[in-house]
Amino acid sequence: MALIVQKYGGTSVATAERIKAVADRIIRTKEAGHRVVVVVSAMGDTTDELIALAHQVTDEPSERELDLLLSTGEIVSCTLMAMALRAKGYEAVALTGPQAGILTEPAYGRAQIIRIEPERIVRELDRGRIVIVAGFQGMTEEFDITTLGRGGSDTTAVALAVIRRADRCEIYTDVDGVFTADPRLVPRARKLAEIDYEEMLELAQQGARVMHPRAVELGAVYNMPIVVRSSFNDNPGTLIHKGVAVEIRNKVRGIAHDTNVAKITIVGVPDRPGIAAALFAPLAEHGVNVDVIVQNASLHGLTDLSFTVARGDLSKALRLVEPVARQIGARDVVASNGWAKVSIVGTGMQHSPGYAARMFKALADRNINIEMITTSEIRITCIIDEARVQEAVQALHDAFQLEQPELA
Ligand code: ASP
Ligand code: MG
Repeated sequence: MALIVQKYGGTSVATAERIKAVADRIIRTKEAGHRVVVVVSAMGDTTDELIALAHQVTDEPSERELDLLLSTGEIVSCTLMAMALRAKGYEAVALTGPQAGILTEPAYGRAQIIRIEPERIVRELDRGRIVIVAGFQGMTEEFDITTLGRGGSDTTAVALAVIRRADRCEIYTDVDGVFTADPRLVPRARKLAEIDYEEMLELAQQGARVMHPRAVELGAVYNMPIVVRSSFNDNPGTLIHKGVAVEIRNKVRGIAHDTNVAKITIVGVPDRPGIAAALFAPLAEHGVNVDVIVQNASLHGLTDLSFTVARGDLSKALRLVEPVARQIGARDVVASNGWAKVSIVGTGMQHSPGYAARMFKALADRNINIEMITTSEIRITCIIDEARVQEAVQALHDAFQLEQPELA
């Protein structure tokens, strides 16, 4: 008898009809003789709606109450799911995050799980029940409800799977799995049968929306096999695991893109030790995530320093950086929106030269200008004009022949 953790995202449980359909799917797993723990997201756009509602009441909702409010979304879906299962004749129990023993640090809106006390879940499973856990939430030592950050139900699911040493964690969503590129941009994008943790992590961090990066990271650390698949059909999904064959024809596994990119350039920065630290420290202190950073070689003791942030952080980042720039005697601070990132990812690129050149050529052939470049061992990212993103992703998909099946 295996233990399987299944997570169903917002679209999978968006309506009463959907909840009943998902209940049937859960029952199939139960009937196959497995112990089942289910994690659910809030129905449809509930979380967005609750946030909007809070902002109708006040411009600055208190963090603690906002988390408590948002946690209700997942409580609605988990209770309804348990009711649907009971109505079909199956023993099921709905648990909130705290009831499931999920303890977090006291950081509202982005809490990390400290530990899970699984006794209640174990007891319910031992009684033969299907356990339905509200995703995205936990509780502090002070009994305050916290949320894990947007998309956090994935993290709940993988964390539970890890803690209970589940045989696998299944992430059900509204797409068939992980694709070589976003199929809305590239009609011939191909579903991947499998992918490495590392590759999935890079793709998720660079904008592939199918899974939350934190959950992938957790899976990687504890080597938990994760299957991403659709709750709307029976197609096999994508298996995220360790040890995907590297010697495959396609050394680029996939392409990610992200249009949530704003750029700040600090012009004429004196080239002295400590300047970059002075500029970035306040951003870190205020929780602004800096992504791509590029510093030019200095000329006459001056350099330009550019970096990107999420668009929603642009004004905050400017507010923090402008006074420092003035203080250190930089000439100017220039901010702009309207950028996008495109990334190629694949562990197979590590020891094969020439991938960067091919990427740049594919973009150059379309006359797409590269604004900034960054790399990791298994990724190359270019910042380009947002208006060209679809063209760029398509060009890269063609250049690396990703529509072709991977053969050993
Ligand atoms: N409902 C939360 C959100 O929309 C958590 C999740 O869906 O995973 O961000
Ligand atoms: Mg959601």
